Order: sequence, then structure tokens, then C-alpha cells
Amino acid sequence: MPELFIDGTWRDAADGATREIRCPADGRAVATVAEATASDAEAAVLAARRAFDHGPWPHTPAPERAALLHRLADRLEQEKEEVARLESLDTGKRMVESRIDVDDIVSVFRHFAGLAQADAGRMVDTGVPDVVSRVVHEPLGVCALITPWNFPLLQTSWKVAPALAAGCTFVLKPSELTPSTAVWLVRTLADLGLPDGAGNLVLGAGARVGPTLTEHPGVDLVSFTGGLETGRRVMAAASGTVKKVALELGGKNPNVVFADADLDAALDLALAAIFLDSGQVCSAGSRLIVEESVHDSFVDALVERAGRIRLGGPFDDDAQTGPLISAEHRDKVERYVATGIGEGARLRVGGSRPEGPAYDEGFFFPPTVLDDCHTGMRCVQEESFGPVLTVETFTGATREETEDAAVALANDTLYGLAGAVWTQDAGRAERVAARLRHGTIWINDYHPYVAQAEWGGYKQSGIGRELGLAGLDEYRETKHIWHNVRPAPQGWFDDPSESEQG
Ligand code: NAP
Repeated sequence: MPELFIDGTWRDAADGATREIRCPADGRAVATVAEATASDAEAAVLAARRAFDHGPWPHTPAPERAALLHRLADRLEQEKEEVARLESLDTGKRMVESRIDVDDIVSVFRHFAGLAQADAGRMVDTGVPDVVSRVVHEPLGVCALITPWNFPLLQTSWKVAPALAAGCTFVLKPSELTPSTAVWLVRTLADLGLPDGAGNLVLGAGARVGPTLTEHPGVDLVSFTGGLETGRRVMAAASGTVKKVALELGGKNPNVVFADADLDAALDLALAAIFLDSGQVCSAGSRLIVEESVHDSFVDALVERAGRIRLGGPFDDDAQTGPLISAEHRDKVERYVATGIGEGARLRVGGSRPEGPAYDEGFFFPPTVLDDCHTGMRCVQEESFGPVLTVETFTGATREETEDAAVALANDTLYGLAGAVWTQDAGRAERVAARLRHGTIWINDYHPYVAQAEWGGYKQSGIGRELGLAGLDEYRETKHIWHNVRPAPQGWFDDPSESEQG
């Protein structure tokens, strides 16, 4: 089955290469998809370029663009179970989580359908007679949209929906590991009437097709979500043609628990913060930073509950969290745990692969807690992207010193994506939240997000709010149009002798 969609046509890779997709929970074959070459990526960019420069989509009236996004959302609602199933088979995540993701994706498309029509620009009062001046927004151009495997269609929708709402054309490259819902999306958009070339799909390894997408002069914007190292490469590649770049990178997110918190709630959400989706969440609360006076009781209880979390595949109703995405990723998580232990961390629970027939074919790794950690350790500074929680403690002689100590630890990271603070003292909560250098801060909660609020990283967690959950600005150019309605010579360079003679 050809799976590359270029200029309105499904086709195989130029060299006929394919890749087999297997479910990470049980190894079952899920799909065989085309593995694009650099020349396929180039063809997709040229198609998107033509569709932007000559095609109807950038000039399609905003209400029609919005209507397409709403129809896509309708289709998602109708086919929710099938889309969730595709997502679960590719990722191994539980169906219950995939269904929640589909609901979120519906709201993303509806949100951007609304924004497509919301902001028509503004008039500028220049005070200059006979001038009409206005600021307008225009679609930015051809967008290369590169997405990771952890929330495949949700991450994709955060890019595709605003790009289409703004009138851009795109080339989408999902993770090589999780292509199925991207195929569904592009097929459905074409079915709903998206013009040829406006939406193109290239499947294949980042190393094979990434450089074309990030360097090609026909691309105006690269919107990338993935790891820090890849993000750095993408940014460098895009610099040659000074593309607009939006990056959503990793996180090493502090979850700060003061002794005066509601500790039952904090404990419950500390588990969810790191072990949902086996920690494969960019905003996972992977660093527990707990006040020393409650450390022992809090961490003992957490370890006990973490040890009881049930692992299982997408269709196991008793499972509480799923497998890791690949054998390579599990190897990486194992190395990370071994490094932490080598650095002096104390393994409290987990740490080695579960045994038993249910786990033989999958890439399972149990909830793992590393205690007695400090910020000098690599396991505290580097993202594992797995179900591994590191524990640090803080204390202070006074109220201020205690807060200072917590904030200093929480900010001691090159990342700045998200974090949380737990305390029943509202003043302390606001003071600490204001000082945390992270793009999203939850107070007495963890993980919820809404489509209407920005999502973006401080420091090396990203550039721009590319999830665009607040607006379309990443996908538009803003233009000031100054219209002199009474043009007349102004004589700046008239020959003075001529006017004297006159
Ligand atoms: P990754 O390895 O960086 O890959 C991300 C995407 O980039 C994939 O589609 C990958 O393709 C592609 N890619 C690889 N090399 C490339 C190159 N040279 N040029 C262009 N594209 C290239 O990340 P991942 O392992 O898929 O995802 C996990 C990471 O994503 C974590 O660090 C996580 O924190 C981050 N993340 C961040 C957010 C956020 O909102 N900040 C959200 C989700 C995930 P292939 O898969 O084909 O190699």
C-alpha cells in the first residue's frame, strides 16, 4: 500500500523501500509503510511550494478554511474508535489514553477553526492626511511539520490545524515509529476537499528525509517537536536559509512538594506526573523535589504505590500504564537508570524488566524511583523519557530560605518546559510559581492543559509557542500596509535653481 502523499497522489518511495511497523506492547505487525527518500521529500516540498504560490488554499476564504477544519473534527468524532485503535497499535499505549487523545485532537481542530476567522487585522491611525494604513495577517508559506511518537496525532494536530487555519501549505513528517494516524489524517483531509499539494505526507527516517525538509529553500517554516539534540540540528539546518523555526523540545520537569501540601493529593498526582504513558510525556514530572521533613513518609508511600502499578498493552483493561516505544528506547532508559545508580542514587523500586509471558514480546519497563539524588547527577539533568523518577530534597532555616532552596533546585536545569508546586499556603504557591523558570506551572495539580492557553518552553525547551494553542501567529506573517490615497510629487530632489527661476 503506497503511503506517501505528494501533490494529491499516493505513491511508493522512489527506491521502493518500506518499513514494518510493530506494536510495542506485543510485537504484532501493524502496517508496512513506505520509507521515503530525500528525493521524495524534495518532491513533497515542491508540491507544497506550488500549492502555496499558485494554488487556491492560501486565498481560500477564512470561513471555508474553518469549515474544513470543523469537518475534520466531525470525522474524528465519527471514527474515534478506529483512530484510537490505530494510535494504540503504533504506540502501545492503552486505548483509554488514546481515546482521550482523540477528544483533545477534536478540540484542537475546532479551536483553530474558530481562530481562522477571528483576527482580520487592524487599522492604524497614523495621523497623516490622505493615508489609509492597516496591519494584515497573511499565511506564512510552506511549513515542514516534524513530529515525535509519544502523542503522534495530537502533536501533529497542533501543527496541521494552525497551518491550515492560517492558509499555509505543509509537508508532514511524523515519527518513523508511529505513522498510521498521520496517514489517516492526510487521507481524510484530501477526502474532505483539501486541494492537491496543500497537504503532503512523507514517511521515513529523520536522517533520510529530515535534512531536505529543514534545508530546502522552498520551505518557509520548520515546526519541530522532539528531542533537544535533534532540535539543535534542525535549528542549525534551517539557519542556512533563515527559516522561521518553532521548536518544542524536551523537559526535565520539577514537581516541588512542600511539607504543608495536601500530601495525599500530592502523592497521587506525583505518580500520575511521571508514570502515565510510562513517562513518555514531554511534561512528565520526572524530578520530585520534596521538603526534607516529609521526605521519608512521602517517598516510602510513593515507592509502595509505584511498585503496584500494573503494566499492560492497549487492550488490557486492567493495565495502568503501557510499554516503551521501542527496544532502543528501553535500552536507553536502562542505561539511564544504571548511570544514576553509578552516580550514587538509591534504587527504591523498579529498575529491571518485568518477567512473564505477558511481557516477552513487548518493550516494558516498570515504574522506577531513584532516591537520594542531587543536581550534580546526570540522571537529574538529562531526560530519560521513561518511567523513572528522581528524588531530591530541600530544607531551610526560615520560610524564605526553604522557598529559596526549592526554587534553586527546580530551576537548576537547562530545560524549562513545565513544573508544579504543592502547598496549601496560597501566598507561597504564587511566590514560587512566579519564580519557576518553566513555561507551564501547575499549582496543586499536574498535567492538565487547555487548548486556549499557550504551551511553550523556557530556556532550551523550545522556541515559540508552536503548539499554537493560543493563536496563529507562528503560521502567519504580519504586514503593515500604508496606502497614500492622494499621491503627489513631494519634491525632495527638485533642482533648487529651477524653482528659483520659476
Ligand atoms: P526525536 O528523536 O528528536 O525525533 C522527533 C522527530 O524528528 C521525528 O519525526 C524524527 O524522525 C525527526 N528527526 C530525526 N532526525 C532528524 C533530522 N536530522 N532532521 C529532521 N528531523 C529529524 O524525538 P522523539 O524520540 O521522536 O520524541 C521524544 C522527544 O520529543 C522527547 O525529548 C520529548 O521531550 C520531546 N517532546 C516534546 C514535546 C513538547 O511539547 N515540548 C512534546 C512531545 C515530545 P524519525 O522518528 O523518523 O527519526
